[in-house]
Amino acid sequence: VSDWTAAKGVVYLVGAGPGDPGLLTRRGEALLRQADVVFFDRLASPELLDLTRAECERVDVSKHPGGPVTPQEWINAELIRRAREGIRVVRLKGGDPFVFGRGSEEAIACREAGVDCEIVAGITSAFAAPLAAGIPVLHRHLAGSVLVLHGRIEGVGGEEEPWRHVDWAATCRAADTLVILMGVAAIEKVREGLLSGGRPPGHPVAAIEWATTPRQRVIVSTIDEMVADFRRQGLTAPAVLVVGDVVSLRERIAPEKKSD
Ligand code: SAH
Repeated sequence: VSDWTAAKGVVYLVGAGPGDPGLLTRRGEALLRQADVVFFDRLASPELLDLTRAECERVDVSKHPGGPVTPQEWINAELIRRAREGIRVVRLKGGDPFVFGRGSEEAIACREAGVDCEIVAGITSAFAAPLAAGIPVLHRHLAGSVLVLHGRIEGVGGEEEPWRHVDWAATCRAADTLVILMGVAAIEKVREGLLSGGRPPGHPVAAIEWATTPRQRVIVSTIDEMVADFRRQGLTAPAVLVVGDVVSLRERIAPEKKSD
């Protein structure tokens, strides 16, 4: 059994889950309750901060798409500096700490500085967002494989350094269901990528915005129509995109309410 006692001088990288505070792990909660300082960002639910002690210091290190960004180097340096003060440091990360989100870079920075770092898994939005929309990413008949990728396209969204290139042809062929994170800023390029990769224009796509939170919204479209539909409805980050036949199951699993 893993240790639920937070040690002083250690950085705990804790997966916050996709948004619903009920989706934090029990170990994550225990560590959060003991924290002396917690570093959080806009993807972690504000309610989770209520679990911390009154004396716990809360530091917002959000990166807003197209807006203010806390430099990653500053975050890394602060985690290390605070741990060296001999206090209990929790870094709350949206979803799972190692599914993008630069948790691994924070872990490496700590290790290289000789600071102990423990990483606690979280429920990733890559799977929780489709589920919350009534879309099973894997299914006996419709999807034997799922692939998670980023939609960060070079030169879009003020990127400081390019992300690992997505080979759309290989990606589109490799799996039945595609789950795209960070795909909103470069939505046109994502559409082009899917079409150039051989996905049919009529193939269903769902966007799940602010999944598992009270702001959750689901927009279902097709590859061909997705840019127009998402624009018209004002889709913003954070959103998970799901591409594949499984999207059609939503009608039976989470039928649209007739009236609101
Ligand atoms: N580590 C996170 C992902 C970080 S990358 C995880 O495991 O979930 C940030 C991207 O995650 C966003 O651009 C969006 O695509 C997705 N995301 C995170 N939380 C989300 C939420 N509540 N609703 C929809 N998408 C979310």
